[in-house]
Amino acid sequence: MRHVIALDVGGTGMKAALVGADNTLLYEARRPTGRERGPQAIVGEILDFAAELRDKGRELFGRPAEAAGVAVPGIVDEANGVAVYAANLGWRDLPMRRLLSERLGGLPVALGHDVRTGGLAEGRIGAGNGADRFLFIPLGTGIAGAIGIDGRIEAGAHGYAGEIGHVVVRPGGAECSCGQRGCLETIASASAVSRAWAAASGDPRADAADCAKAVESGDPRAEAVWHEAVGALADGLLIGLTLLDPRMLIIGGGLAEAGETLFTPLRAAVAGRATFHKVPRIVPAALGDTAGCLGAGLLAWDLLATKSTEVTA
Ligand SMILES: [Zn+2]
Repeated sequence: MRHVIALDVGGTGMKAALVGADNTLLYEARRPTGRERGPQAIVGEILDFAAELRDKGRELFGRPAEAAGVAVPGIVDEANGVAVYAANLGWRDLPMRRLLSERLGGLPVALGHDVRTGGLAEGRIGAGNGADRFLFIPLGTGIAGAIGIDGRIEAGAHGYAGEIGHVVVRPGGAECSCGQRGCLETIASASAVSRAWAAASGDPRADAADCAKAVESGDPRAEAVWHEAVGALADGLLIGLTLLDPRMLIIGGGLAEAGETLFTPLRAAVAGRATFHKVPRIVPAALGDTAGCLGAGLLAWDLLATKSTEVTA
């Protein structure tokens, strides 16, 4: 069976898969990133994992993988295959594409940014189902974004596009790790809601999922926390849709697991703020934590398609 190697490197864990030409996950594996051992060890771990996947593919399918795709966090120069910077993994200007290709015996390798790669998968084969214009916004520890345009993700001139978590929705508000104040992610990320609910409920272990449950049971303190987050999120989304006019907003991450407890008031809040705007469909992400691997697989298959076009031309 034809297949590619897909790797999704996160701050704490790595997911890997062998992905078929029809985007099915043929084999999956996970292991810790091992960041406590430093950037060199992490890179070694990634290269070893990729090589093991290559061997697994040969064993299962009797033929080598045709390409590899890898998604990494932080700032990523996709065109040059360089992992520029990742605060949580400690690397700088790492020539990831070249290192992986060398380790895999010259295999073609595509490098992608984790959120953009997940967004590519959600847009093409997940909730977007091939939507031509979409925004993918995961609400997790922070808030990130991927701008989908005609089957690809816009990276921006410097690899910074899509950072909707750092649009200021509450000027002068809480300090953000980025140096600004009142950024969207200081209010509406899963972590921010967890913090706010822990403070409001007096239970330091209470998190965003607990807050959603309390909202569902009609707790007014939880409703106040939730209302604040949903309002900030709607303000941020309105900025995104004013600029980009997407056909669809795909919301993922931990907070989206609240389902209609989030989506019903969120749709109403966005619609209530819109004036001239065309309000897009607002839908939950569909691929969960496999989006990164599936997206890395898409990058690898896309790379092969580009190469074969070049050869034909
Ligand atoms: Zn910020």
